[in-house]
Amino acid sequence: MKYDYDVIAIGAGSGGLSVVERAAEYGKKCAVVEAKKLGGTCVNIGCVPKKVMWFGAHIAEALRDAPDFGFDVNVKGFDWSKLVKQREQYISNITGWYNGYMEKLGVDVLQGWGSFVDNHTIEVDGKRYTAETIVIAPGGVPDIPQETEGAELGLTSDGFFGLTEQPKKVAVIGSGYIAVELAGVFQALGTDVSLLSRKDLVLRGFDDMIRETLTDAMITSGIHKEYHFKVARLFKAADGTITVESEDGQHLEGFDQVVWAVGRRTLIEPLKLDNVGITPNGKGYIDVDDEHRTNVPNIFAIGDVTGQPQLTPVAIRAGRFLAERLYNNKPHLKLDLHAVPTVIFSHPPVGTVGLAEHDARKEYGHDNVKVYTSVFTPMRYAFTEHQIKTALKLVVAGKEEKVVGIHIVGDGADEMLQGFAVAVQMGATKADLDATIAIHPSASEELVTMR
Ligand SMILES: Cc1cc2nc3c(=O)[nH]c(=O)nc-3n(C[C@H](O)[C@H](O)[C@H](O)COP(=O)(O)OP(=O)(O)OC[C@H]3O[C@@H](n4cnc5c(N)ncnc54)[C@H](O)[C@@H]3O)c2cc1C
Repeated sequence: MKYDYDVIAIGAGSGGLSVVERAAEYGKKCAVVEAKKLGGTCVNIGCVPKKVMWFGAHIAEALRDAPDFGFDVNVKGFDWSKLVKQREQYISNITGWYNGYMEKLGVDVLQGWGSFVDNHTIEVDGKRYTAETIVIAPGGVPDIPQETEGAELGLTSDGFFGLTEQPKKVAVIGSGYIAVELAGVFQALGTDVSLLSRKDLVLRGFDDMIRETLTDAMITSGIHKEYHFKVARLFKAADGTITVESEDGQHLEGFDQVVWAVGRRTLIEPLKLDNVGITPNGKGYIDVDDEHRTNVPNIFAIGDVTGQPQLTPVAIRAGRFLAERLYNNKPHLKLDLHAVPTVIFSHPPVGTVGLAEHDARKEYGHDNVKVYTSVFTPMRYAFTEHQIKTALKLVVAGKEEKVVGIHIVGDGADEMLQGFAVAVQMGATKADLDATIAIHPSASEELVTMR
């Protein structure tokens, strides 16, 4: 063989692992380079530990509402460190499994930072390896605004997962999905939470119904929402707590921890892309064509580094399809991103697929779009002290009322959405939804009975 490997993936996260796994199944000689842990962001410091914490928060909410269902509950406490220990054990089982699986597939795991030497050669920890095809899948890291004085006093989502003790009082800075998820977990588990954001509603870009309903729910749950708060600096007070100062001189005091959740940037510096003539675009993403090929014919990029929806299933699909095109003669398999479903594990959760109402009106023309909405208190909260609303919206376009967007805020949204996403992907119309017999009693039945 001319090269050491058929394919090397740089980064053993959702994207990198999926391409080498599929390529190895087709008998290709593969290696994956990883500087940290197999599984990448999702398994180690993303989806998986986040969802474990969300389940913990869910149990706290059930305990809160238990007396309203007749239970006489005496909760003696909550051991954050125990939950974290169980979570980390679970994750280490997953990464252990990956190690064994790579070995079984015959994929070499090259531990260390990978960088390009030339189009077919990479260097890892001082050693050089060659491959016919190289796939860049380095993901990203949380951003901290370095220009903000005292910014280093704050954690990021990575630091959140490193917390072995529960903080009593935290400020979460940001209003995107990671900010609302972390704020919700802290709040449900008993931490006093302030959410500091520049705008008045969370989740910019999402449908307004989601933004308004979730923002209200967060405030109702007890999160202190600080609107139009532009952070100027962080500093430590004499008692060791952190104070956050805004540009207009407001002070929020007494935080044990401050968490930045203001965005992520791609992890491209270690790659030495200059050596192969790949220039990231203005946002730090690597541009690819519809086959995930970069401007260098044998080098591909997949996952978060491409600027495509930053979700594990998108990275996995990209990796698998790439292997199918390259090694299984299926050139037609291309990533279809027109209806990517996504869930935000907030309290209550959000599920959304397709276009927000404002985007649909732009795309189809204002008067060619119709929306159906329903807002109600689900039976789960019919007689509890805490009343958490569910809100649903169908966005339909054209005379045939094609469903182009479905938006759900409310308990169960996370599990409800996948099936409805199939319908949107297939091009269902409102009449198709209406023709489906409802499941009763459920919140999802509203989506097939809207008028
Ligand atoms: C807090 C949080 C929660 C999330 N929750 C969800 C969720 O609920 N659902 C969902 O679908 N997505 C979620 N995501 C997003 C998801 O984790 C990412 O979209 C996904 O992991 C992207 O996969 P990737 O392969 O592009 O990169 P990653 O999974 O980030 O993997 C990249 C890997 O490459 C390694 N690496 C980078 N550069 C090099 C180098 N030069 N040499 C060697 N190794 C290198 C890194 O160490 C890393 O392990 C979440 C993300 C975060 C941060």
